[in-house]
Amino acid sequence: MTSIPLKQGLSTADIDCSLQQIADHSNDGLILLSKALKPLLINQVARQYLNGTELPNDLFKNLRIYTQKRKNIQFNLKEWVQSNAFSSRQNRVKTELLWLKSAQQKSLIPVIFQLSNIHDSSKQAANTLLMIQDQSSKIETEAKICLMKTSGAGQFITDSLGLITEPNPTFIQYTHLSAKKLKKMTYIDWLKAQVTFKVPFDLVMDSLLKTGNWSGEIQLTALEQKTMPAVLTLSMLTDENRNIEHFIGVIQDLSEIHEAHHKIEQLAYYDRLTGLANRTLMHNQLTQLLTKPQPSYSALILLDIDSFKIINDTLGYAIGDELLILVAQKLQALAHPEDLVVRMEGDEFALLFPEINQDASEALTQALGLAYKIQDALDDRYTLENRSLHCSVSVGVYLFSEPPQEGDSNELIRYANMAMHEAKNLGGNQVYLFEDRLCSLAKQRLEMLQALNHSELDDEFELYFQAQIDAQGQIVSAETLLRWFHPTLGLVPPNEFIPVAEEGRQIIKIGLWVMHKAFIQAKAWHKKHKDLRVAINISPIQFHEQSFIELIIGLIKFTQVNPNHITLELTEGVLIRNTALALQKIQHLVSLGFHISIDDFGTGYSSLSYLQKLPIHELKIDRSFIQHIPDNQDDVAIVDTILKLAQNKQLTVVAEGVETERQANFLRQQSNEILMQGYFFSKPVPAKQFEQQFLSHSNNDPQHRPQSVPSPQESIQPRSH
Ligand code: C2E
Ligand code: CA
Ligand code: CA
Repeated sequence: MTSIPLKQGLSTADIDCSLQQIADHSNDGLILLSKALKPLLINQVARQYLNGTELPNDLFKNLRIYTQKRKNIQFNLKEWVQSNAFSSRQNRVKTELLWLKSAQQKSLIPVIFQLSNIHDSSKQAANTLLMIQDQSSKIETEAKICLMKTSGAGQFITDSLGLITEPNPTFIQYTHLSAKKLKKMTYIDWLKAQVTFKVPFDLVMDSLLKTGNWSGEIQLTALEQKTMPAVLTLSMLTDENRNIEHFIGVIQDLSEIHEAHHKIEQLAYYDRLTGLANRTLMHNQLTQLLTKPQPSYSALILLDIDSFKIINDTLGYAIGDELLILVAQKLQALAHPEDLVVRMEGDEFALLFPEINQDASEALTQALGLAYKIQDALDDRYTLENRSLHCSVSVGVYLFSEPPQEGDSNELIRYANMAMHEAKNLGGNQVYLFEDRLCSLAKQRLEMLQALNHSELDDEFELYFQAQIDAQGQIVSAETLLRWFHPTLGLVPPNEFIPVAEEGRQIIKIGLWVMHKAFIQAKAWHKKHKDLRVAINISPIQFHEQSFIELIIGLIKFTQVNPNHITLELTEGVLIRNTALALQKIQHLVSLGFHISIDDFGTGYSSLSYLQKLPIHELKIDRSFIQHIPDNQDDVAIVDTILKLAQNKQLTVVAEGVETERQANFLRQQSNEILMQGYFFSKPVPAKQFEQQFLSHSNNDPQHRPQSVPSPQESIQPRSH
């Protein structure tokens, strides 16, 4: 309580301020009254209680005081003052706890009214001082203590030394400590034993002791229990002289909120099947990475499972899903915690390696290293529901250190995507680094697609033929290879336009045109060369067309070709999708007289079980296995295995891409029934040149085999545009 300096014992000269100024510094309301109960001084706090009135005549009417909080019984302050002031020789005369309604507070506040007489030099009570003390905080403390005993939150209260005196049941439950044990601990002992703060402990204590409060998120680890996220609020209660009376702690369990938050986050940012992050999170992370200045290069790697659609369609979604989960696990195992592994959609995954290196060339080496590691790890056999199947991925890499010129995170993903598609176009199971060229390539593909839509097949397309030679050097067959001469795009290689035409489904029309022309050619050649076969490539899109068989039957009738002289080349992928239906179609084709050849044999992912089921005539060993023979022992072993398998099943084998005499000789040594095709014998050439080169010297004897092969030097180059 503030005592008011009066004249006694002090000379006014010592006091450099007014009585009013001093009184205004008090936290309590002060009203000095004359004997006639006239206010001589009202300090600032009291003025607030009087609702702002300046020395009002009717002081007592302006103070609204009640005897009880809830009962609206006014207290007669004037009477109380009149009957108690000046009546005693004591300084402090009377105190009373009452309820006051002030202008600021809406509800009643508890206050203590206290009267003190002030004596003059003759020791007569000359004035009386009415003091009004706000009791709210004290009553609040008591209410708090009362409340915590029944609260759902964990709460404790300590004595003035910090020793826990009242742990409530929830607190006991959270801490897994008995009340007895807790009561032997100070709250600091407990904090140190079970609480992990997100801020330094010193800061917590600093705030608690300076401001009386601290609140924040913590992790509570009760003995051998799992950690619980919670909000801890610590309060320090002091008396009016700022002596510590109690510490109070309140713990609110955040587990449920965290769980809900986690669930929402999972739904919004994570893929349900694989548990990996999703596209949205990738966009967020990329955007975040692009907003701050980037001294380092980051790598964005996009990958796609080769032939996943076929696996899904043939073996079912359950197996497809299982494969996706395995791939996700492998990717996750390759990444560090700071990297982001994402399932973008379907069988497309992405990895973000942030800030890998400041040096461009080192960053590049690292990024490619990571990409190859990923490709290598995923190029594997997977066992799914007792089936073992091979699977590989196409990987696109984009390295960046600053935002793309026009655009945002979408642009970055687009670049990585272009690189990935390029890896796919190169045959899959590849890594491709983004280069600017790809942007123009994407434009070209679009142009190509438009050009394909407007192309006049007869004007722009031409069939080329490549010879297949037996071990004795005789020509046996001609593979039809399509060439597109576009007026402005020039000669477009089939590896470029066929995928585009498949995507745009123009392949159906083009494929039909090829078959039509090839049938006519086969029929024409057959007149003189009875044993010459013509092979035609069939796109999976074409094959799976519903009307494929009907169209072919129509063409046979129209061209009068004998299907016995035609080989249809299908890739393994064709056989895997919708196996039952594919099997039916193939059986139908065979019943019509066609030979069926498996193109690019060995590059597919499938088990060879289909060889058992399908009436196949021929296997074409992919060029990639021929390229490095006889030096590469693995390839030699593969070729050897395929030859043995074929011999068993009485299948013809064609080795593709034979480029050197050494390869040809080696293959001849392996089998004298092998057929060979490749630049060593001839490049694909137009029909007329093919005739000149391979068929012109044959006599008219229908039994005569086509002429033996000219030396490679004589082989004619495709016409250049
Ligand atoms: P493919 O069916 O595997 O055809 C063999 C490819 O290898 C041809 O490429 C051929 O020119 C090339 N080749 C042959 N010998 C050698 C060699 O010794 N060394 C090298 N490096 N390459 C050799 P081309 O003509 O560019 O055709 C590429 C692919 O386009 C074909 O691969 C085939 O999948 C597709 N294709 C071509 N014509 C048609 C068609 O009429 N219809 C369909 N659906 N696809 C076609
Ligand atoms: Ca082929
Ligand atoms: Ca091939």
